[in-house]
Amino acid sequence: MVKKITILGSTGSIGTQALQVLEKLEGKFEVVALSAGHNIPLLSEQIEKFHPKRVCVGSQECACILTTKYKDLEVVYGDEGLIDLCSDKSNDIILVAVSGKIGLKPTLTAIKNHIDIALANKETLVMAGDIVMREAAMNGVNILPVDSEHSAIHQCLNNKAGLRRLIITASGGPFLHKHVAEMKKATQEQALAHPRWNMGKKITIDSATLMNKGLEVIEAHHLFNVDYENIKTVIHPQSVVHSAVEYKDGSVIAQLGLPSMHIPIQYAICYPERIEGIKTDSFDFAKIGTMTFEEPDFNKFPLLKLAIECGKKSGSYTVCLNAADEEAVYAFLDGKISLGEISDIVSDMVQHHKSVANPDIDEIFEIDKMVREETKRLIENKYSKRSKA
Ligand code: MG
Repeated sequence: MVKKITILGSTGSIGTQALQVLEKLEGKFEVVALSAGHNIPLLSEQIEKFHPKRVCVGSQECACILTTKYKDLEVVYGDEGLIDLCSDKSNDIILVAVSGKIGLKPTLTAIKNHIDIALANKETLVMAGDIVMREAAMNGVNILPVDSEHSAIHQCLNNKAGLRRLIITASGGPFLHKHVAEMKKATQEQALAHPRWNMGKKITIDSATLMNKGLEVIEAHHLFNVDYENIKTVIHPQSVVHSAVEYKDGSVIAQLGLPSMHIPIQYAICYPERIEGIKTDSFDFAKIGTMTFEEPDFNKFPLLKLAIECGKKSGSYTVCLNAADEEAVYAFLDGKISLGEISDIVSDMVQHHKSVANPDIDEIFEIDKMVREETKRLIENKYSKRSKA
């Protein structure tokens, strides 16, 4: 049977790798639709290769260019366009690989239309994990994680009743064994040089501060319905063990593999089948030689601790955490603040946050907007001036 798939964010890091997987799985998938922001040259190449019936782009201008170029193509744009693509019930699965909050509403739309989700968008679960997982259960929809850690847990977790805890591994990023003072004043170039994974800029900075791991703990809590007390993080610089599950009888089942996103992407979109797509080298324990593990240093990486605390406190704390972090990371990438100031700013915002219990989707977006505005103000008034002084 040919599986019908839509990819949201097809020109991004996960999207392009997903299309590489589909190329190798020729005949098994039909691309129903693609979405991209403004990278029209790359999207055009993808249209010519994968022949989607519809595409969604970031603006009306981009849509006009494509409508003129491809007469038979249906082109939509903006947030409404994404929601439109996710309402198409002919899809078997939608890969949500856009980054940021724009992924949330389209994902919910797909779930309500009984379409399985391959989820590569962090914000969906960090901002609205309770709502998304409840809707998925009500509609009998599979949420298949694409992130390597959650994919690993999904592969290892076959007996929920026997579970003791989840063990999430973290590479530790480029500053793992660097002095904290050196980390705090790191340049963009240093912070963007991730030792193991090649990813988008926002997630690479989050990996350098370990915020990314904190967000992954929150996602794991929602995806697998496991209490925060039973989710452990461990630093594993080689990124070979992608995560593990510990059972009550003391058995630990881990998923291993070379660090390639092709594997978790293919696992998610092909689930429950396992097929050969992109050929990987056979896994060679002897060649890997040494695998090391260490406790995360919560003092050096305060955002990891803060993220887990926000998750435990629930309410709208994780909405605040996510919005403040994103604005602070952008400010760092704009050269307005130092890397060390990201955690100061996010802590400040979380400390002063007035949490709303069980927020609905509209409240979540309102809180997100408010926190972003306040974070920008805080950066302008306090941090930008300090950096310039
Ligand atoms: Mg990850």
